[in-house]
Formats: sequence, structure tokens, C-alpha cells
Amino acid sequence: MKIAAVIVDVPARQTDRPFDYVIPEKWEDVLQVGMRVTVPFGARLLQGFVVNIKSHSEVKTLKPIEAILDVTPVLNEELLGLGQYLTETTLCFAISAYQAMLPAAMKAKYEKEIHLVHEEDRACLHETIQSLFADRSVISWKDVEHTNVVPLLQKEIQKGYLEVVYRVKEKAAKKTIKYIDIAVSKEQIHEAIEALPANAIKQKQLLTLLLSAKDGMPLKELLEQSGASHASVKALIQKGILSEREVEIYRDPYEHREFVKTEPLPLTDEQKQALAPIVESVRASKHEVFLLYGVTGSGKTEIYMQAIEEVLRQGKEAIVLVPEISLTPQMVERFKGRFGSQVAVLHSGLSVGEKYDEWRKIHRKEVKLVVGARSAIFAPFENLGMIIIDEEHEASYKQEENPRYHARDVAIYRARFHQCPVVLGSATPSLESFARAKKGIYQLLTLKKRMSENGLPTVNIVDMREELRSGNRSMFSRILFEKLQDRLTKGEQSVLFLNRRGYSTFVMCRDCGHVIRCPHCDISLTYHRVQQRLKCHYCGHEEPLTYRCPSCASEHIRFFGTGTQKVEEELNKLLPEARVIRMDVDTTSRKGAHERLLEAFGEGKADILLGTQMIAKGLDFPKVTLVGVLAADTMLHLPDFRSSEKTFQLLTQVSGRAGRHKLPGEVVIQTYTPEHYSIELAAKHDYDMFYQKEMAIRKLHGYPPFYYLTLITVSHSEITKAVAVTEKIAAYLRAHLSKEAIILGPVASPIARLHDRYRYQCMIKYKREPNFTRVLKTVVDRYQQEISQGELFITVDTNPYMMM
Ligand code: ADP
Ligand code: ZN
Ligand code: ZN
Repeated sequence: MKIAAVIVDVPARQTDRPFDYVIPEKWEDVLQVGMRVTVPFGARLLQGFVVNIKSHSEVKTLKPIEAILDVTPVLNEELLGLGQYLTETTLCFAISAYQAMLPAAMKAKYEKEIHLVHEEDRACLHETIQSLFADRSVISWKDVEHTNVVPLLQKEIQKGYLEVVYRVKEKAAKKTIKYIDIAVSKEQIHEAIEALPANAIKQKQLLTLLLSAKDGMPLKELLEQSGASHASVKALIQKGILSEREVEIYRDPYEHREFVKTEPLPLTDEQKQALAPIVESVRASKHEVFLLYGVTGSGKTEIYMQAIEEVLRQGKEAIVLVPEISLTPQMVERFKGRFGSQVAVLHSGLSVGEKYDEWRKIHRKEVKLVVGARSAIFAPFENLGMIIIDEEHEASYKQEENPRYHARDVAIYRARFHQCPVVLGSATPSLESFARAKKGIYQLLTLKKRMSENGLPTVNIVDMREELRSGNRSMFSRILFEKLQDRLTKGEQSVLFLNRRGYSTFVMCRDCGHVIRCPHCDISLTYHRVQQRLKCHYCGHEEPLTYRCPSCASEHIRFFGTGTQKVEEELNKLLPEARVIRMDVDTTSRKGAHERLLEAFGEGKADILLGTQMIAKGLDFPKVTLVGVLAADTMLHLPDFRSSEKTFQLLTQVSGRAGRHKLPGEVVIQTYTPEHYSIELAAKHDYDMFYQKEMAIRKLHGYPPFYYLTLITVSHSEITKAVAVTEKIAAYLRAHLSKEAIILGPVASPIARLHDRYRYQCMIKYKREPNFTRVLKTVVDRYQQEISQGELFITVDTNPYMMM
């Protein structure tokens, strides 16, 4: 007897282990590790993953596997191991890890049905139920769940007349189209054509088309090209002259796009020097991590593409990750143009079905290269030759739900398995990565020169305090306004950038730019409107709201934040002749809207592009010569230890948008804190100095990369419960971790209440804690019952990027 160990689709601590099932004899030779199956679990049928096949089980009575869902394994040995690694490092359930690696379409959908057990019992049913079933023996639970017959149904179920049956369905089906082919010999077709009346031109055309087609033709094309009617095709099928079949096709989102083939560019000396060690590592099948540090427009993408060429020459495969917002049509075009149909593209704009089809192309080895957002790191390649992560500093590489993995860690895990290089690219590397490069853990490759003759754009920092003093209360400084007008008259384009308003607001003095910060944590205090108090969301320090600036005694001190819509209104008032495209979550929520708006801007249908984060990178428009940042402070003062780093990165990226081509670019950054190092140094394009300053501050306050960080967030509908649980967790950690670990909190989260649940958090800073994950698991397990009842939520983020 063969036994399968199966991880079932119940994401809970109690079920986070393999369960044993008997493999029915007929499937003994069919079932393989890594396939999906359905299994009975209690009263239900569930989807699960086979993680092991063995000949012995500790459990005496085993149920059999109900069905096999795959013909070939969907998770190979490597990915199964990766799942294990994710459960250990991110403390997620195994089922969540495996599901994260597969397209959403392959996640099971469960349908509840009510079945009549024996036909003979129909007459015994309650009248109402009898008429509900009418002449059916199965009804869907969905149709009745909100009606008042539920109690009656329950009674019948108790009596044993009815039973509840769960059915497992896949979400997305494969897409097929109808193909028409000839069903008889060619001679017979010729005879059929002869036999047709002379005026049946369309039918003759139809048969002639099919005669010359090698393998039949899609019905749609056949009708279009012959002009014949569907009815005449049907008639010919009935006569047995033609046949019809369903052919599986891929939903190709780029079907209607033509990609112009591009050739590798002759590299500059700097590019050659950066490419050589990567190529060497590919050839030697050596696992190394490269940090390609090169200013925007220095030709990193060209290096990626030439490195990929080497990978393909070796008969291997490559993954290229780019942040979701950079995965623009322009970016896709560059890779499709160079590598054609060898490329699969995976991003969130695709439908569930389209994503599934792209995944299948990879799984069937029909493509060699994947360009995609975060989850493309799980592309089921089996012969990986390289992984590239562009804009490696981007926070979107961290998944903010279970499993809370960072794509960089997954990339390094996979590359080690495949003995291949990882290339991390950025103009503003994360502090973590740059520190590793300095230590020699990563190999640093540098590109200092920009491709365009213009070099980097000039950056003007505008002190908004001065503007206020001289009587300008508008959100546009005089210089920015003048430059906008100037571009308008010249027919050039401008991009205006406004950081999305966060959940929290900070308090800032408009006269001197002073921001109230925590004396202990070096982060901005958050303004709580209801209590009129300022709070630190790391350590819990709080103080009353001030009405007078502690630094300059001005009364112009208030909380800060404005939206894109307000800016658009003001633009319409001040520059009524300017055509503005606004891009934010509101204007881009519809599928394809993002691309359409960008396309319109690229075609010169607007003078000003106004938007949030999403316009900060990836865009490459020749006519953009001015970039304005309206309020550099909004990001600088988020309650997040990375706020300076994020500000520096963002300003650098935004500046990189201007003057990428022939026309020289200019940048205007408006701020109330022009002296802040992240703003000053971004304006000077001085990453190295920024790195030094920021590292000193991280060291002083005990943040990464000097310390590891873990954030535990507890939420409950009752505030006392949320506080009590967080307190107990903190106390347990204090008792069980080493003396070096620093446990901050409990404190209210920056988003103190969400969906009617109170949120408390506790932050752990540590260096070496060999038992860390075990201790965390133990403490969270204590609340298993309340968690499974859905009252209490505990999230553990072992490498947090969202500090709210
Ligand atoms: P990055 O990825 O660093 O922002 P890109 O690879 O996009 O830089 O390069 C910027 C521009 O320079 C692109 O238009 C690209 O086609 C061009 N480019 C890159 N390498 C070369 C080269 N060796 N010769 C000429 N043009 C190049
Ligand atoms: Zn002040
Ligand atoms: Zn604090």
C-alpha cells in the first residue's frame, strides 16, 4: 500500500502539517509528489498538495485520496523545499507558502451542495423541501443560504434524507476555440466542390480554404475569410464532410502588439566592465550576488539583456523582476523586442486566466524568460541560469500578507539551489544591500555615467517656509509656477509628483519646518485628532498637541497632508489652459486605465502629468523637461525608520524622469525642511554620502542593517483584549529571548483602528537569537483557539516594510 502525505487547504496552526491518505491502487503509478489532489477532511472535501509518498503510516485507519487534479506535478522538489524555507523564515503555514507559488487560478474554489441521499426518500421530505428540489436531486447551497428554508434543510440533513457535499472546483478553465477540419479525403472534398451548384461561391471558397490549410482552421477565421455562414459549416459537419474540435489556446494580452526586434547595443567601457563578471558567473554556474549600482539611465537594462543572452546561450532560463509600477508597456516592449516569444510576462494587470496561461507556458518550458512583478520569483523553471531584480530597493518586493516574504531572499534561495548568479540593480540601493556589498558579501558593480549627453538634471530646492513668509499661500512655489508656465509656452511636458497621503499625519511648523519627533526613537510623532495628542508608534511616548512651535514659537504649526484632487483643482484655476492628466488610485483603478493614461501623455495629449508614487519611475518620455515634487516632506515624516531612505530614493527616482533624452531636464523640489540630508543629498545625486549619514543614524538608534527587526501586530474588537494579549506576548519575549534583544511596546499601531478592530503592536530588535522563530511560534500558538475563532488576529512580520 502506498500512502501520500498531503498538506490540506486549511490555513490554521492545527492543520499545518501533512495528513496521510491511502493512494488508490489505480493511481499508484500516477501520483507524484508536488501534485494537487482532493481529499476528504472531516465532512469536507479539500484541495491539498502531496508533499511525500511513503509505504508506512503511523495512523491506523486512513481515508483514500478522492481525486488527482494534475497530470504532472505543479511544484517540483525545489519549490517544495522553498515552501519549507518560507514557513521557517516567515512563520507562515505551509499551505499559504505553496499557494503563493502558484497562479490564483489553481487555488481551489469550494462549492457546497445539498444532495438527496436516496431517491426513495423523496416522498418523506417536508413539502417545502420537496418543491424546492422539484425533479432535481442536487441543489446548490448558494441558492438557499439566505432563505428561510435553512432550518428545514438542517432537519432533513439530521434525519439523513439529505446530505451536504462539498465540491472542489478550479477557478479558471483553460480557454479553447473551435477548429474546423476536413473529415474525408482530399479527393472527396474536390468531388464535393464539383457537386456544389455554381452560385455556391462562398461554400466552395470555404472548402478550398480548408484544403490548403495544414491542420484545419479556427472557425472564426474560416467564416471571415470565406464569407460562408455558420449554418453551412454546421450542415457540412452533419454530412460528415467536416469535423469540429476544441483547441486549447493561450490568452495572450500582447496578442495584438507588434514588437520591433532589437539587437544588442555596443556597450560602453563601463558597461563592459560591469557585464563581464556576471557573464563569467553564468558560464561557471557559480552562485554569486551582484549589486549593480548605476544611476538612472546608465544602461543597466541593456546589461541585464546582454547577460540574459548568455544565459539563453547556455540553454538556461532567467527571471527578471521589476516593481509592479515599472512594469509599463515600454518595459515589456524592451524585453519582448529583444527576446520575442521566449518571454512570458506576469503582472497584476492580467486577468486570472491570463496569468494562468503565462504560468503554463513556463511550466511547459515554452518560454525561457519571465519578466514580472514580485510573485514571478516563483516561476517554475527547472534550469535557472540567472535572477535579476531591478530597482532592488523597492518596498513592493516585500509581500504584505502571508507569506510575508521578500523576493530578494527567495531569489537568493533559488539561485543557490541552481548555482547561478543574482543581479540586484538600483540607482539607490537599499541600505541592507549596499552594506552587504561593502562587506564583500555581494559583489559591487558600478555605473557612474548616464547615457544621454545631458547628464543628470539640475535640481532646485525650494524652501516653502520662505514662500509663506513672502505671502505665497499656494501649494506652488513661485519658481515652480514660472517653470510650469514656461514649459507650457514651449510645448514641453511637466510631471508633478505628490506623495500619497498616508494614514497618519504629522505636525509641522510652516514657518520653520520643525517637525515634532519622538525623543527616543527618531521618528515623527503621529497626530491623533480625537485625543488631541501626539504619539510615538514605536515606543509609546506621547505628549499633548502643541499650538506653538517649540523651535521658533510660531503659531503656524499644524498637521500636514493634501491630495492629488486638490492639486488638480488648483492647477485648473492657476493654469486653465494646461491640459492635466491625473494618476492616482482613483483614476487608475479600472483595468488598463494606467496604461491608457500614460499612453495619452506619451502622445502629447496633456501638458502636465500629476500623480502619486505610481508615476515616479519607469516612465521615459522625451518631452518631459520639468519634474516638480510638491511636498517632499510627506514621506520624510512617516512614522517609519526608513522614511529618510524612502525620501532619498523617491527624489532620486523622480529626478531621473527629467531630461532623459535630447532636451535638458530640470527638477523643483518643494519642502519645509530643505536642510534635511536626504533632500540635500538627493538634489546633489550623492548616494554615497547619503549612505554614510543614514548608516550612522541607523547604528545610533539600533535599526537595520545593524539590527534585525520583527513586528508583531495584535488586533481585536475589544481594546482591552488587544492590549492584554500584546502585553503578554511582550512579557513572554522578554523572558525567553536573550538580554541583547530589545522589545519595544506594546503600543497602539499608527493605524490604531482598522475595520473596527483595535491594533496594538510590539517591535523586537535583535542581533543573534538562534531560538527566535521557535519562541515566536510558541507564544503565538498559545492564542490558537481565539485565533481560529476569528476573534483575535496576530500577525508576525519578521522583516517589516510596512510599519503601520
Ligand atoms: P537604466 O536601466 O540604468 O535606467 P537603460 O538601460 O534604460 O538605463 O538605458 C538608458 C538609455 O540608454 C536607453 O534608452 C538605452 O537604450 C540607452 N543605452 C543603454 N546602453 C547603451 C549603449 N551601450 N549605447 C547606446 N545607448 C545605450
Ligand atoms: Zn517653528
Ligand atoms: Zn518613541
